Amino acid sequence: MKLKILYTLALALFYSCSEDYATNIKQESDVESTTIDNEWSDNPYKLNIVYFVPNDMSPVPDYESRIEEIIFDAQDFFASNLDRAGFGRTSFGLDIKSDGKLNIITVPGQQGKNAYPYSGGGGVIVNELNTYFNENPEEKKSEHTLVLLPSTSGDPLNPGGVPFYGYGRYCFALDYEYLDKQYLGEDSNLGNLATKWIGGLVHELGHGLNAPHNIGRKTVKSTLGTALMGTGNGTYGKSPTFITAAHAAVFANSQTFSSDTRSDWYSKETANISNLKGKVENNKIIISGNFTSSGTVATINVWHDPYPATANNEDYDALSFTSKPVGQDSLYIESPLDDFHKLDGQYQLRIGFIHENGSRVIRAYEYEFVNNVPNIEVINTKNLIDRSSWSIVEADSEEDNGPASGMLDGDLSSFWHTQWKSTLPGHPHHFVLDMGAETTVKGFAFENRSGLNGTIKDFEMFKSNDGENWTSLGTYSLARVQNIQYIDLPSVQSFRYMKLVTQNSHGDFDYTHLAEIHAYNN
Ligand code: ZN
Repeated sequence: MKLKILYTLALALFYSCSEDYATNIKQESDVESTTIDNEWSDNPYKLNIVYFVPNDMSPVPDYESRIEEIIFDAQDFFASNLDRAGFGRTSFGLDIKSDGKLNIITVPGQQGKNAYPYSGGGGVIVNELNTYFNENPEEKKSEHTLVLLPSTSGDPLNPGGVPFYGYGRYCFALDYEYLDKQYLGEDSNLGNLATKWIGGLVHELGHGLNAPHNIGRKTVKSTLGTALMGTGNGTYGKSPTFITAAHAAVFANSQTFSSDTRSDWYSKETANISNLKGKVENNKIIISGNFTSSGTVATINVWHDPYPATANNEDYDALSFTSKPVGQDSLYIESPLDDFHKLDGQYQLRIGFIHENGSRVIRAYEYEFVNNVPNIEVINTKNLIDRSSWSIVEADSEEDNGPASGMLDGDLSSFWHTQWKSTLPGHPHHFVLDMGAETTVKGFAFENRSGLNGTIKDFEMFKSNDGENWTSLGTYSLARVQNIQYIDLPSVQSFRYMKLVTQNSHGDFDYTHLAEIHAYNN
């Protein structure tokens, strides 16, 4: 233990002191033991570092020492940021060999470099790695894997050609001759390349460790710089770059950062929100409400994402905030408007429940800034009308396991699904809802199942009191999201039957489906 603390000190000093001093300390450690420990060696799960070599390529010379230095540096970067966010010096565990070196698992590819292009190559590699880890289960130390490939561009001053992104718990980066920490921050061609590809590596690693994109709060820009999971891949090592508090919370509740051994890492959890309320007070958006969850929620994050996303911007500008649950079942999160980079246009609000086992459940809502003021009240939970006397009296098409009655049972996993197995009838599809008696309705609420391909897009609703003579209530659109969507009618109206007729579905599928339909009167 004493030795470990000593080395911890040495490691910490390594990054701020001269090479000579660090070397001296290392030698001192070597005298006492051959095992040099890493500050996070006690973490039960270690990030897998894979060097994947297509069968017509060779590793780039000295890859092990160059990559080790970059990864150790990144480990410390995460630790300082989690420390600032209140989680202590917490970072991802790494597998350290008995000689003190980082264990980089060098995996020979089954195929040549052309089989692993930027686009689509990641999936091919993941398949081969799954096979590799099945055959060598002792080498897999966690669910998280960083994969490096030698650049296939043939030009070390213009590397590329291989997968470079993160998804699921995999992330991909590239290696080239000058991928070396010594160039990081240097005002030179090699320095710019180093920021691009080392900063890129650390950004993709953030994805592989569960983080989506986000942008830093406006008020911390001058002190903390650029968020790693925003455009920090272009600033890492060159100008101040940081991990936002919301993402520090995501990492702190992920497998390789944890000191907990548990069998249910990432097993699926559910979370539902009730009494959701949004308001603006003291120049802050305040989101509050209650929730229930199948597991223990450690952190609740919100992202305010300018929306709809443009093709080349996506969620990079999603502003994030984090909070702890209040008691067992409540949420309360403040988002100061001074932190917003833009006070106009549409936003998507995402509320994320980060569970102790790393599982994340995200609920999404839309709102809009009008004259610099967010109409956040639109997220408020509606008074849903009791459905006990409701029934679906007609549907044009139902698959065996997708009866229309599934829209009224309060269970998102049972849903109306039009036929697709033996026949595949196309749009328009329709169903008729009978509310049992004339009912006063302000609007209808819709919830999709988790699989969003084929969810209803454009549709028309009709009303009737006899189920025979119909009057249009107008045409509407639903978004391709799973959260509850409220559709206000042009005015509050009373009627007994509602007929919904689809025009198309998201993804232009012939089939469509819907998990739940409600009505509200407030
Ligand atoms: Zn990214």
